[in-house]
Amino acid sequence: MAATATVAAELEEGRTGVSSLLSAAVGEEVIASNIAELIGWTPLIEMKTIPKKEGIQARLIGKMETYQPLFSVKDRTALGMIEDAEEKGFITPGVTTLIEPTSDPAGGYKGAIDKVEDLMKIMPNYHCFNQATNPANPEAHFKWTGPEIWKDTAGKVDFFVTAAGTGGTLSGVGRYLKMKIPSINVVCVEPSESAVISGGSPGSHKIQGIGPGFIPKTLDRSIIDEVVTVSSEESMAMARRLAKEEGLLVGISSGANVAACIKIAAREENKGKMIVTMFPSGGERYMSSDLFADESQTSGETLSIRR
Ligand code: PMP
Repeated sequence: MAATATVAAELEEGRTGVSSLLSAAVGEEVIASNIAELIGWTPLIEMKTIPKKEGIQARLIGKMETYQPLFSVKDRTALGMIEDAEEKGFITPGVTTLIEPTSDPAGGYKGAIDKVEDLMKIMPNYHCFNQATNPANPEAHFKWTGPEIWKDTAGKVDFFVTAAGTGGTLSGVGRYLKMKIPSINVVCVEPSESAVISGGSPGSHKIQGIGPGFIPKTLDRSIIDEVVTVSSEESMAMARRLAKEEGLLVGISSGANVAACIKIAAREENKGKMIVTMFPSGGERYMSSDLFADESQTSGETLSIRR
């Protein structure tokens, strides 16, 4: 698909830019011909206020997946799995209906998989990617997200820290960055209430999109240097701080990622290190969740950002 070819060409030519379209020469049209062309090239932002207040001297940088067409790190995964299935002839545009399990609260991820399997038995022309076992999921992050981070940081990353749902982001980005920067540390974040990767038991938590309670096939544990656990409360508190103190309206898993980054950054030996993490989703999605349940936690402070 065009987006893949464009990003690959951009990397070859060493161009930069938030969107591949923005690197067009002056006088060229900058108009996407379909929504998939807008996937990728999300910006990095350095957090300044929270690290200063915490007395942290490492650099904390977040990748804004909120800048995607559907405001999520999953845009890349979806595009990668669709392109892969089209190439393999598993799906036909206009004919196949795509169905995908995700973590719905009632039966969890496993319950959603069971439901998909039931539906597939009775519905013709349904195709399920199964993002938790599909190698095209981490591959999307290996070919797009990883190269973007490497390029936009000028290859200076010391730590890549991110929470695992399917583990696609962690595995794909981690594998790419380890190939380019062998000394990098890849840190996996998971909910302390369901610390399965750390060897604990599955449990309920409030960090949507991560900590499914089992170890997905798409999680490449061999590239993980360390697992850091954070609680739902810590994650939500940090997501609120990111909105109030940095002007970043991001989701609960972004809060988990930054809470973990702060634990790593606080270590004496990590002074001056560059720590890159992901902001997988935006805060708008969580308006009816506990993230915004208590108004006193989201009001009463004035944000001051200087350009
Ligand atoms: N945060 C949120 C909000 C997500 O939806 C996801 C995807 N499940 C993740 C983090 C983790 O991404 P991955 O599946 O690539 O591990």
